[in-house]
Amino acid sequence: FFLFLILLFITLLASCTQQGSPAPLEEKAKIRIGISLGTLKEERWLRDRDILMAKLKELGAEVFVQNANNDDEDQLKQVKYLLDQQIQVLILVPNDLKKAATAVQMAKRQGVKVISYDRLVTESNVDLYISFDNIKVGRFMAQYLVNRVPRGNYLIVNGATTDHNTKMIKEGYDSILKDRVASGNIKILAEEWAPNWMVEYAFKVTDDILQSGKRIDAVIAGNDSLAGGVIKALAERRMAGSTLVTGQDADLAACQRIVEGTQAMTVYKPIAKLAEKTAGMALKLARGETLDTKDTIYDGKYFVPSYVIEPISVDKNNIDETVIKDGFHSSQDVYRYR
Ligand code: BGC
Repeated sequence: FFLFLILLFITLLASCTQQGSPAPLEEKAKIRIGISLGTLKEERWLRDRDILMAKLKELGAEVFVQNANNDDEDQLKQVKYLLDQQIQVLILVPNDLKKAATAVQMAKRQGVKVISYDRLVTESNVDLYISFDNIKVGRFMAQYLVNRVPRGNYLIVNGATTDHNTKMIKEGYDSILKDRVASGNIKILAEEWAPNWMVEYAFKVTDDILQSGKRIDAVIAGNDSLAGGVIKALAERRMAGSTLVTGQDADLAACQRIVEGTQAMTVYKPIAKLAEKTAGMALKLARGETLDTKDTIYDGKYFVPSYVIEPISVDKNNIDETVIKDGFHSSQDVYRYR
């Protein structure tokens, strides 16, 4: 009987402490974050999405993701859907730098903070712009080419005019090329803008110039997908490798082309740095904390807080100690024929 009393006492005590203990962590309302991607077409965006989601979840947030597939209307609808999920912060990669301002306004009206991720939304006063130094991306491309082709015919195939990054890339390469173009050492055969960063467009413009019988010595291609289109057109005339082609993103296919000799360089942007920093800042914004940004960028109407990460110029000489060393791609994948 005595033993029974002790057992009863222990059971009661246990149930009392259970009732009195605070609610388990998962029952506390989680911070809700929405991600609206303009596209998932290029390889990098999958990495952005995956790292953002993983990091945000690790920090305890609930995450909702939408991809607009390069459709501006769909992006607006998807942002509406995300706002209906009672998100506190919207991480937005605008498909169109101007049209996405409507999405920012909708979010702001609901008191939702907006992060303009990788690409700037213009005239919309976002709470944070976070990206790589895109002017430097353009400078790296042009510097690489002028060092090796100080005189010659250049072709420029930019990305979409609806992407603010392409304007910054142009600002970068113009700063390097302008004197050489003025002196006549470099001739720009054409400066084109591929709608939606379309590979087929890059192929077509290159093919058209080659068809006309003009020689192309160097190509500034706005990213690795466009570089792929340019190189395909060059390859059909056995010129892949002799015409130097730039790119950006360090896509696996581009890294393979670099070590195999058909693409000269790429600009490597360590996505993990961008995504992880963004996740941390998104949570700060959700909690109403101030961000550790020192810089601002002018969005055409407002100066918005800006955080910019350094890109890295990569060719066959430093691909091992950058892209591969970081684990961005494995050595086996890059040197596939070794
Ligand atoms: C990004 C590039 C990307 C391109 C096409 C740009 O805004 O900065 O990394 O390749 O969009 O999606």
